[in-house]
Amino acid sequence: MPRNSGTSDRATTQAGTDAFCRERSRSCLDKRSYGLRQLLALAAATFLFSHATRVQAQTPLSYTVALVSPAEHLVQVQIVLPAGQPERELQMPVWNALYQIRDFSQFVNWIRARDNAGKVLNIAEIDKSRWRLSDTLNGAVVEYQMYLDSPGPFGAQLSSTHAFFNLAQVLMYPIDSRATPIRIRFTHLPQNWRVATPLQSLSESGYAAENYDRLVDSPVEIGTFQESDFDESGGHFRIVVDAEPDDYDMQKITSELRKIVAAAISWMDDRPFDTYMFLYHFPRGPGGGGMEHAYSTAIDLNAEQVKQSPATLASVTAHEFFHLWNVKRIRPLGLEPVDYSRENYTRALWFSEGVTSTVAETIQFRAGLTNEREYLYHLADQITELERRPAHLTQSAEESSLDAWLEGNSYYRRPERSISYYNKGELLGMMLDLAVRDASHGAASLREVLQWMNAHYAQQGRFFNGSDGVREAAEAVAHADLGPFFTKYVAGTEEIPWDEFLRSVGLHIETVSNTVPDTGFGASHNSDGPLAVTSVEPGSSAEHAGLLVGDIIVEIQGKPAGQESRQELARLNPGDTVRVKLRERHGAERELQWKVDGRQELTYELRDLAQVTSEQRARRGAWLKGEAQGAGQTKADAEIRAVTNEKR
Ligand SMILES: [Zn+2]
Repeated sequence: MPRNSGTSDRATTQAGTDAFCRERSRSCLDKRSYGLRQLLALAAATFLFSHATRVQAQTPLSYTVALVSPAEHLVQVQIVLPAGQPERELQMPVWNALYQIRDFSQFVNWIRARDNAGKVLNIAEIDKSRWRLSDTLNGAVVEYQMYLDSPGPFGAQLSSTHAFFNLAQVLMYPIDSRATPIRIRFTHLPQNWRVATPLQSLSESGYAAENYDRLVDSPVEIGTFQESDFDESGGHFRIVVDAEPDDYDMQKITSELRKIVAAAISWMDDRPFDTYMFLYHFPRGPGGGGMEHAYSTAIDLNAEQVKQSPATLASVTAHEFFHLWNVKRIRPLGLEPVDYSRENYTRALWFSEGVTSTVAETIQFRAGLTNEREYLYHLADQITELERRPAHLTQSAEESSLDAWLEGNSYYRRPERSISYYNKGELLGMMLDLAVRDASHGAASLREVLQWMNAHYAQQGRFFNGSDGVREAAEAVAHADLGPFFTKYVAGTEEIPWDEFLRSVGLHIETVSNTVPDTGFGASHNSDGPLAVTSVEPGSSAEHAGLLVGDIIVEIQGKPAGQESRQELARLNPGDTVRVKLRERHGAERELQWKVDGRQELTYELRDLAQVTSEQRARRGAWLKGEAQGAGQTKADAEIRAVTNEKR
C-alpha cells in the first residue's frame, strides 16, 4: 500500500556524486578535455580532495527526540548543526508516507535556536514550513516542541501506550545537508519502553543513518512490544508487534512471513538487503493499512480482523514486502530526488502500487497461502470494482496516479469522479502479464518485466521514466510492440476487453445481475483515516433515517468502521437492518438504523471457456504461478495442472 519516502542506497550514491560534480563543476568538466596522463594526475588530486571532503562531511548532524510528555503527545526535538555556512535554512516536510500535503509544521508549537556558547540566535520563519537561522558559522543548536498524535503506519504518535514515528513528520532538515550522515537518540523513555527500528544501532539509545532520506525511511517504534525473528533465503528478519498478546499468534505470523519472504525472493531472484523488519500494530479500534520502506514495513490491522480473516495480514504483508523492490528500488523518475517541500508527481503509481498488488497475489499463490479459486475470485472482484465506478470511462490510470494528491478530499473519492490506481493498476498488471505471454508465446511474463526493471534500473542506480519505462521493459522481454496496450488502457480510458486477454488462459467473463443489498449511501476513507459518508441516495431508507453527507462513521453493525466494513455490509441482505454509529462534524455522536433496500447490480464472474484446451491450461498454470513457460517449468506446470484438474 502507501507509500514512500527516502531513496535506495544506489540512488543515494548517485545523488551524492552529482552534488559533488555540481560543486566542483570545473574539475568535473575539465576531465573531458584532458589527456590520459593529466587525467590520471587530476584523478589522484581529486581523490585526495574528495577524501578530505569526505572526512569533513563526516561530521554528523545530530538529532535528539525527547519523549517529554506521552500523555500530552509532546516531544521536544534538538538538532545540533555542525559548523558551516553563516546562514542555514531548516525545512519541515509538507508530505510523507501518503501522497498528500499534510503540512507537519502545523504541529510545531515553538522553535528556538542558540549557538554553542548558549547565545540566542535569530530564527525567522520564511514560509509555513521553512525557517532561516543566522550566525551559524560555528554551528548551532535548534530546539522545537511538537504535538504528535497521528496514529497508524502513515503517522507519528506519542501516547501513554507507545510511540511510533515516521521521522519525516517529526524532523526538520537543513536544506544544505540532505546528504550529511546523521546520529539520532531517543530520550526520556518511560520505564520498560524499548526502541525498535531498522536504523543502524550505535548504543542503547543511539542510531546512525547515512543521510536524511535514509533516516526518514526508517520507522521507529518505542514501547513494550513483543519481538521475534527468523532467517530465510539468506536474510535476517525481525518481527515487532505492538498489540494485546491475546490478539495474535506470533508463531503463526512467523510461519506465514517465512513463506511470503521465500516466495518473493525466489520470484525476483534477488535479495537487496541483509536484514528486514516487519512492524505490526493490531489496534482494537479502527486500523488498516501498511507503509513500505526500503528495509522494513509498518502495518496496522484491526485486531478483530487479524483473528477473523488471517488472509488479510498475508495479503497486506505480501504487498508491502514486494514494495522493497517495486517503488523503493525500482523507482519512478518523478519521485526522485524526493522533494519534501511540495507535491512529487508521477504517472506511474498504477505500476508502483497497482502492479505491486498484482505481484502480491502471485506471491501468496506461490507461498501456498491462496489457491486458484481464491485467485480468480479476487481478480473477478477487482474487475467488478473497476466496472462499477463510472469514472473508469473518464479518468485514466495515469491521471489517477497524478491525482493521488487529491485523495484526501472525500468528493474526489466518489465513484463518478475517480478510479483507484491500486484497483486499475492491479488489473493492468494482470492483463500486461497476459499480453506479454501472448506476444512472446509464453516465453516471457510479468516476472521477466520486473526482473528486467530490477536489473536495468534498480541495480544500476537509475530511475524509470514512468509508464514509458514500464513499456520499455515489457517490450524488451516480449520482443513486441505493446504501444496499443499502453495507449488504450494506461494513458487512455478505453474499456478493457477482458475476454480477449483471458482467452489464452481458458477463461471468460460473465456478468451476473444480482439483487444486491443497497444501504443507500456511499462512504470512503482517506488511507487509514475515518470512514466518511460521501453520498446519500435521494429517497433511500438511509436518507429517511437522517444520514448526511459528511457524517463520520464510527461503527457499522457494532464493529469499528474500517477496511473490513465493506465485507460487513456485503453480508447484509435486503430487509436486514443496518446500524451505524456516527460522529457529526462538530463531534457529537448519534446512532441510526434503517432497513437495507435491494437493487439490481452487475457482478463480474470468471468462468472456464466451454472448451479449455491443454495449451490454455498450461498457460493458466504458468500465469497463476507467475512464471514463463520455459523448459524448466514443466514439472511445476504439471503440478499446477494436477491441482487445476482436481478442482474441476
Ligand atoms: Zn503499496
